[in-house]
Amino acid sequence: MSLNLSDNSLLNDKLYINGEWQNTSLTPFNVLNPATGDVIATVANAGEEHAKQAIAAATDALPAWQHKTAKERSSILRKWFELIMENQEDLARIMTAEQGKPLEEARGEIAYGASFIEWFAEEGKRVYGDITPTNSPSHRLVTIKQAVGVVAAITPWNFPSAMLTRKAGPALAAGCTFVMKPASETPLSAIALAVLAERAGIPKGVLNLIISDDSKTIGDVFTSDTRVKKITFTGSTAIGKTLLKQSADTVKKASMELGGNAPLVVFADADLDSAVEGAVASRYRNAGQTCICVNRMLVQDEIYDEFTKKLTEKVASMKVDNGFADNVDIGPLINIDAVLKVEKLVNEAVEEGAQVLAGGERSNQGECYFQPTVLGNVTKNMNILSEEIFGPVSPVVKFSTEEEAIEMANDTNYGLAAYIYTQNLGRAWRVSEAIEYGMVGVNEVSITSELIPFGGVKESGLGREGSKYGIDEYVDIKYICMGGV
Ligand code: NAP
Repeated sequence: MSLNLSDNSLLNDKLYINGEWQNTSLTPFNVLNPATGDVIATVANAGEEHAKQAIAAATDALPAWQHKTAKERSSILRKWFELIMENQEDLARIMTAEQGKPLEEARGEIAYGASFIEWFAEEGKRVYGDITPTNSPSHRLVTIKQAVGVVAAITPWNFPSAMLTRKAGPALAAGCTFVMKPASETPLSAIALAVLAERAGIPKGVLNLIISDDSKTIGDVFTSDTRVKKITFTGSTAIGKTLLKQSADTVKKASMELGGNAPLVVFADADLDSAVEGAVASRYRNAGQTCICVNRMLVQDEIYDEFTKKLTEKVASMKVDNGFADNVDIGPLINIDAVLKVEKLVNEAVEEGAQVLAGGERSNQGECYFQPTVLGNVTKNMNILSEEIFGPVSPVVKFSTEEEAIEMANDTNYGLAAYIYTQNLGRAWRVSEAIEYGMVGVNEVSITSELIPFGGVKESGLGREGSKYGIDEYVDIKYICMGGV
């Protein structure tokens, strides 16, 4: 299948280790277009030895990269950012082909992802230390921050480009070297980023790419190798826990961006149209496969009927199609397993008494499509409220009081993002403070950018990406006591 790229050299099919594009003797694997089932590419497959080679390359490249000035690293990263933006259209087309999201969303993700390279290229110059007022005339107390060393990154398929740049940007800016492993469903976006990193002049060994259909083996190497000083992961809570356990033996620094179960809490005093618009924009983006997607809608009883009516009207008019089609709202899910999971959750909810107000079943567009769905009559105890749905389904549940809304919002092990709609300023503050989430949108669902600290509490993760805090995840604090002054 032709992707109509203006630069076909972005579509490489190999690993990138120590500045070399490398094949392996392991059986290569196919990358499929979820919209059609077509094979887009067949890519080289890495095993244990390649992961070790990549770590060795990153270890060897570390001293020279670490000892560059922040400004020198910054200008190389700036070049990478510019190349990503110059190739935005091609990168977006590659992403839509392998991941399925509407092309317009893919363009947005490329720009969003690139912004982390631009931002951290600058933040790298501001990794300041401290001089602490001394407790002795003969001592000076100094704190410096230093790159942690070799970083290994594992990322998911739902944001195949931005989840890598959100890690590579701060790591490289801080002076770390980097080994990355994208999801096996979406390696092509990562390969294209590595092609552009090479063109930008990132020195050999500083950024290495492992692609593999055996993520367990690669994860085992990343977590057990003592040369890797930091593991940074975005993906499911279950795999995040596994990687944390595995990292314990070598006491690695770890950042975990894990699953979510975002509530959208709509109070009776909300601007209803704006709440419905926010609900649709957040829930159905990327076919519902976003960690900060609204996963459940909690609506105050007096406006429940009006909210669900307006929501249903909007959702019923959404266009489901191939991500390359014009004006498409919802593309395919990533694979058939994702469709089966969503279908099971919807069917269970219906058996428990939920009412299908829109959609409710697979779409006839193709194997990986599911209709945008609204479920009414959802009650607190239903399983669909506690699972990360990861599909285009809105369960809408009633609450009566502010206290009940807070209790329901917090009734989950996740704590990534939450959204509140209310016109009452006091309530906006009270609820924002009372809910246990890393990020809260008040009358707004579009909350993420490179400027803000992205991350969760509870089982949604550890650490923050983006903002002035993001680079802290990639440095160690060293205290120097200068005696004999
Ligand atoms: P996943 O199954 O946890 O996979 C994530 C990554 O881990 C992939 O690269 C996967 O490779 C790899 N992996 C799987 N098993 C592994 C193992 N035993 N050892 C080492 N690596 C392993 O998650 P997903 O289904 O791709 O992504 C969806 C999840 O990511 C959702 O829970 C979503 O909420 C979360 N997410 C969170 C954020 C955030 O910022 N908090 C952002 C985006 C997504 P293979 O796929 O090749 O096996």
